[in-house]
Amino acid sequence: MVSYAEASLRVAYAVSDRILAAVMAGPRQRIDIREFTRPDLPDGAALLRTARSEVCGTDVHLWHGRLSGVPYPIIPGHVSAGVLESIRGSVRGIDGATLREGDRAVFFDVHRTCGRCRPCVVHRTPTRCIARRVYGITDPAAEGLYGGWSQAIYLEPGVQIARLPDGVTFDQYIGGGCGLLTAVHIIERAALRPGDTVLVQGTGAVGLCTIALARLSGASTIFAIGAPPDRLALATRLGADRTFDLNTTSYEERLEIVRSLTDNEGVDVVVEAAGSARAFEEGPFLARDGGRYVVAGHYTNVGPSQVNVHEAINRKHLEIRGCWGSEAGHFLRALTLLGRYGHAVPFAAIGGRTYPLTGLDAAIADAEAMRITKALVDPWAAS
Ligand SMILES: [Zn+2]
Ligand SMILES: [Zn+2]
Repeated sequence: MVSYAEASLRVAYAVSDRILAAVMAGPRQRIDIREFTRPDLPDGAALLRTARSEVCGTDVHLWHGRLSGVPYPIIPGHVSAGVLESIRGSVRGIDGATLREGDRAVFFDVHRTCGRCRPCVVHRTPTRCIARRVYGITDPAAEGLYGGWSQAIYLEPGVQIARLPDGVTFDQYIGGGCGLLTAVHIIERAALRPGDTVLVQGTGAVGLCTIALARLSGASTIFAIGAPPDRLALATRLGADRTFDLNTTSYEERLEIVRSLTDNEGVDVVVEAAGSARAFEEGPFLARDGGRYVVAGHYTNVGPSQVNVHEAINRKHLEIRGCWGSEAGHFLRALTLLGRYGHAVPFAAIGGRTYPLTGLDAAIADAEAMRITKALVDPWAAS
């Protein structure tokens, strides 16, 4: 099912030879609109006409210069969706089917994972591959259209592309966006079992998607700690049973209530999706003895946490697992979940407002101030 708006997008916005993109020249610099020439496609490549991209927490970190190894200037926007404008040669989707021009498509932002380095081959941790690159984060604008804050995105040979499932809108896909892929990985790392009690620290896109997937995966009671109140309301809509406003409840109150609702034990699984050093000081004590703690929110360095290891980890027999990035399998499963449950789970509600390319300074400011959960980008919208 393609909406009227999406159908008209196909005819109304053909990609010309001059493609506009929003460029982040460096940390804390104004976003520039630059013109790029339409790329010549080698065999196996495609050009995606962008319908939606996003401004996620990572983009705010990029603007603050808090990620290492970023080759500024960049075109941000790592998770995006659109319509395949042109394809050179035969390009197959991640499901093996041949892709065609005009298909609504999405792609896995991580590319060039080598399959040969020690992390790839020996440790089987491809998200730690030494060669991997990520659209919108580690791809320089000097190399071309490698980001979603652009009217078109160059999909180089080897990028994992998938048709967007019928019935899933661009806004549903981007509402979950990178947070949904990460949440699929988190649930896997959490080894969630039916009936497990879960507590999610953080109600940004990653935390909200984790709540939704924990609910779909058969969790029993789901707690969420976060702020501001509109995000907590979204947490409830996505499946949380009990929410705590970080700003109006104390650690002691949260601990007492969580314990009282879990046979005085604490939850089976705690997920850190807050990116706060304080969250890690609290998380272990919200888990039961022998429980699991997945740490996914410390995507940037927010400084040390102070924990009493004896009390928080050793004596509790706590299992702690980090979770970095996502793999193509998480991307595919996120799409499968959207296709099956997209109508029932309000992923699109995570997207707060849609901005044109000329509005991205405001979008970053709004995301930073938590005025919206996630800013969406429509590169064809009039400014
Ligand atoms: Zn590798
Ligand atoms: Zn992101």
